[in-house]
Amino acid sequence: MAPKRAAVDAEQQTAGKAPAKLKTKRKKPSPPKAPKCGCKGDCRSRKCGCGKKGEACGDSCKCAGCKNPFNILKEYNIDCVAAAQDKCLMDNIFKIEDLRGRLEQRLRTECCGRAVRLKNMLPGTITQCNCPDCGHEWQYSWCSHELVDWESRPRNHCGICHRCGDYRDAHCQKCNKCYFAGMSGFECPCQDRRPNPEGDLGSIGIFMKWAMQYLAGDDSDGLSDDSEDEDFI
Ligand SMILES: [Zn+2]
Ligand SMILES: [Zn+2]
Ligand SMILES: [Zn+2]
Ligand SMILES: [Zn+2]
Ligand SMILES: [Zn+2]
Ligand SMILES: [Zn+2]
Ligand SMILES: [Zn+2]
Repeated sequence: MAPKRAAVDAEQQTAGKAPAKLKTKRKKPSPPKAPKCGCKGDCRSRKCGCGKKGEACGDSCKCAGCKNPFNILKEYNIDCVAAAQDKCLMDNIFKIEDLRGRLEQRLRTECCGRAVRLKNMLPGTITQCNCPDCGHEWQYSWCSHELVDWESRPRNHCGICHRCGDYRDAHCQKCNKCYFAGMSGFECPCQDRRPNPEGDLGSIGIFMKWAMQYLAGDDSDGLSDDSEDEDFI
């Protein structure tokens, strides 16, 4: 037993002693350390291999006049890969002309009017109002470039329509559009196009009935007085 234990100890020791050496010696197919894209242009599109993954361009990239927005996020020491998890960011960041200006700009919380800078929110999009009594949470929308009330009307970015919609919107798989689904999540109106002649006749019928009553009624003055009273209540 003793020699075996010694061998294990020796192994552990060598492993602990020279982890760096072992790493460099092993030629495992590890994820590439340096980002690299095949762009020949300025990387200002989601097609850029680096930008797509939320990485800044590196020395091995062959791009010219690179405008990969993640280069700027990296300058700010923002965790780019984490920031790129946000679909709303990914659908907007390549289009922003002045990203530095955007990151530096102050956004005001609606609750207390406190200023937050976008650069201090990233990665992630939710920030808490820094007012000691408030603590209300706000979320940044890259689409509308404003803080939205995360607690009562959370941001709702559709990755298919590439935009932020109402917090009660849902994406319909059938018509491939976002629609207002309400709080209970009712179905898209595109699935409800059954012709309904009875309903139409019904409403006409109600109108006719009302018209007949109205025409037949002699006390039209009395009716208008009633409606006026209702308006004042
Ligand atoms: Zn590129
Ligand atoms: Zn690149
Ligand atoms: Zn580039
Ligand atoms: Zn507040
Ligand atoms: Zn959005
Ligand atoms: Zn639909
Ligand atoms: Zn949608």
